[in-house]
Amino acid sequence: MDCIFCKIAAGEIPSKKLYEDDAVLAFADIEPKAPVHVLVIPKQHLPSAAAVTAETADVVGHIYTVIASLCAENGWNSYRVVTNVGPDAGQTVPHLHFHILAGRTLGEMG
Ligand code: AMP
Ligand code: ZN
Repeated sequence: MDCIFCKIAAGEIPSKKLYEDDAVLAFADIEPKAPVHVLVIPKQHLPSAAAVTAETADVVGHIYTVIASLCAENGWNSYRVVTNVGPDAGQTVPHLHFHILAGRTLGEMG
C-alpha cells in the first residue's frame, strides 16, 4: 500500500521514534507545530478515526495508554491530543494518527 505512515511503521521511511511495540509507533512530527509534537499511529492501516469499529477499537484504547505513559515519562503534564478526520479538519495523511502537542500554551480549538 502506498501509504507514508505504513512505510514509517515498516521502517521503510526513517522517523525519530519515541516508542514502539507490536501494534503502535510514536514518532516526532517532521513539521512540529509546538515544542513537543509527536504522532502516535497504529501499525495496522486504518484510514482515520471514522474507520474505527468494534473490531479495531482495542488499538485505539492501547494508543491512549501509550500516550499517557509517554507523556508521563517525558514530564509533559499538560498536552493536547488531536486526530483530524477528512480534509476540512486538516487531515493530510490518510492513516489514523493522534497528534500530541505540548510545550507551549495552546490556543482555542477551531
Ligand atoms: P494531519 O494533517 O492531521 O493529517 O497530520 C499529518 C502530520 O504528518 C503533519 O503534522 C505532518 O507534518 C506529518 N508528517 C508528514 N510526513 C511526515 C514524515 N515523513 N515524518 C513525520 N511526520 C510527517
Ligand atoms: Zn497506512
